[in-house]
Amino acid sequence: MGLRIEVVQQARALLQQGYSVRQVAERLGCSRKDVEKVAIAQSGLRNTRLTVTCALMLLLIAWLVAPRRHEDRVPAASATPATLSLMDTNILAAYELIAAGSIEDRWLLEKEVFTGSELAHERNVLARLKDELEGALDHYTTIAEVRALKNRFGGQIAPSLFSDFGGGSSKLIGIPGEEIATLSKKARSGIEVVFYPRSHAQHPRLKGQHLLYDNLWRVCIMAMLDYPDRTWRDAAFIHELWHAKRDRDGAASAHAPPLSDSWISEELEAHALQAQVMNIGTASKYRKLLEQTVSHAPARTVHDFLTTVPPTTFRMLDTLFQQPMRGEAEFRTAQYVLNLGVAWLEHHQKNQARQEQEKIALYRSIVRPHTMTVHPGR
Ligand SMILES: [Zn+2]
Repeated sequence: MGLRIEVVQQARALLQQGYSVRQVAERLGCSRKDVEKVAIAQSGLRNTRLTVTCALMLLLIAWLVAPRRHEDRVPAASATPATLSLMDTNILAAYELIAAGSIEDRWLLEKEVFTGSELAHERNVLARLKDELEGALDHYTTIAEVRALKNRFGGQIAPSLFSDFGGGSSKLIGIPGEEIATLSKKARSGIEVVFYPRSHAQHPRLKGQHLLYDNLWRVCIMAMLDYPDRTWRDAAFIHELWHAKRDRDGAASAHAPPLSDSWISEELEAHALQAQVMNIGTASKYRKLLEQTVSHAPARTVHDFLTTVPPTTFRMLDTLFQQPMRGEAEFRTAQYVLNLGVAWLEHHQKNQARQEQEKIALYRSIVRPHTMTVHPGR
């Protein structure tokens, strides 16, 4: 059975906003097949993207229906389960749109190397990556927190390689101009950054995360990837380095239970710092777009707001940067969701104490397995 003309028009509008066929069918209460026809008629190219989207949906739906942790069942006072569910759907649509425009992951190292010319090559790559990360600390010193990071870790980054030997370890292999002994000293007084090759990505310690701060090893761990967008890479590294600094300073938040208020407060600091770096990297366009989006949003609560932001707005934020690699789509989406939610609260909730509490509640409610920071690496 075909669709009535007004339903077709509604379906077209929703598809244009980036909703998937499945989501449009659910919203309008019609069959997926009919919506699919509308989508195909709209554009041949679009149909290709939707095929990818449907495949992703199948993968992600399993996570979404999994029971939530206890903390997640305590939403902010204003967020009903129905609102949270709509928000989930919207975030997922945004993720799909960003992932659909991604390129393949570009690895700089396929597998662990041990000897000879390959090892010499790896030393050169590690030296280059180390220089780039040091450069990130020099580049954003208009931000007070980055100056603090530079004072603490500048010139003190020791690159090493992840090894799966003995259940996971890191090994210093030296770099041109810096012997292992020097790097070992820097690893203790500064920060060791452990790079891992593609072959180790699914190691239980790494769980496929591109970047994390491991507070047992007290190191940053980073996938050995050639990031298309340096601003994004630098911003994510600075986020993790902030956790390293908090840990070194002995902050209570660094070892608080995951998803406790204190733990989340540190996460919010790191994400805000990351957003400042992204703003500088885009000549202030990032903050401008966030502010435009929240100031025109007449929602009652932050959760209501996040159910109404069209997926295309998330993509607009993403197009301020180079195309992501497939493995970046999740944490990019998570950052945009959180930054938009926080910007909304800063614009609409002027009571400072309540604003802080609502930011914490927001973080807790958007943490899901398809977002970046849920898991131990922070
Ligand atoms: Zn974090």
